[in-house]
Amino acid sequence: MGDNSKKIEDYLITSEPYYEPVGNEISIFESAYQNQLPVLLKGPTGCGKTRFMEHMSWRLKRPLITVSCHDDLTASDLVGRYLISGSETVWIDGPLARAVRAGAICYLDEIVEARKDTTVVIHPLCDDRRVLPIEKVGELLEAPDDFCMAISYNPGYQSILKDLKQSTRQRFVALEFDYPSEELEQKIIENETSVDSTTSAMLVKFAHMTRNLKGNGLDEGASTRLLVHAAKLISSGVDPVAACNSAISEAITDDPEMLQAVNELSSSLF
Ligand code: ADP
Repeated sequence: MGDNSKKIEDYLITSEPYYEPVGNEISIFESAYQNQLPVLLKGPTGCGKTRFMEHMSWRLKRPLITVSCHDDLTASDLVGRYLISGSETVWIDGPLARAVRAGAICYLDEIVEARKDTTVVIHPLCDDRRVLPIEKVGELLEAPDDFCMAISYNPGYQSILKDLKQSTRQRFVALEFDYPSEELEQKIIENETSVDSTTSAMLVKFAHMTRNLKGNGLDEGASTRLLVHAAKLISSGVDPVAACNSAISEAITDDPEMLQAVNELSSSLF
């Protein structure tokens, strides 16, 4: 996240992050970027949103400042604050102000998790004004053309408290992400790890079984991320059933009966 000991150049991504496009998301993002439109990535956890942002940052040659939002994150954490340094107080830009000043890409991951005052500060940046008011120093920071705002949101966690308001979401070009098709997901697993195609096919099959249980005892099925984790364990010699248990089943549920049911599915496959 916005670490002030890091120079802005350190946020540049110089070697291509491996990303398998699922549709036309790369060209839509590029057009949104060229038109200074902010982007909203929707989709479940672990389906490639962060990797996509890394890939786009590399493509557009702009630094990427990512903030993982959590329920204690306030507007000041994003914009900045005064800190005491010796006998003086100095203003320290938060990650959002840094990204605006540098014309970087600012990616707020899971925005609905953050405190409500954070959406207030992003609003004027996400419409025609493209400004960030820094009230504490009386500065109105104008975003340069190369600044880009992107946020992510998981509609699966929807609740009245944690929903993205229309006044926020209607500022963004929205890209929908989902788990890749079977073939593509297998390809991703094989590229990210060194498992063979038989193993990757089994993992994808297992993932589909868990995804079918969504809403029937599971909040969320196994994501691509978890399949990659299990595949990594398998490639370093862990038995596939044990790998699926630790990397996938235990990660998606704590319910003993559900765990048993999910583990039976993986034992039947491997
Ligand atoms: P999210 O940000 O949606 O939670 P990530 O981008 O962290 O998910 O994706 C989790 C992992 O899944 C990545 O580290 C990568 O290994 C893999 N992955 C998922 N989708 C893709 C994709 N389209 N191309 C390449 N890797 C992918």
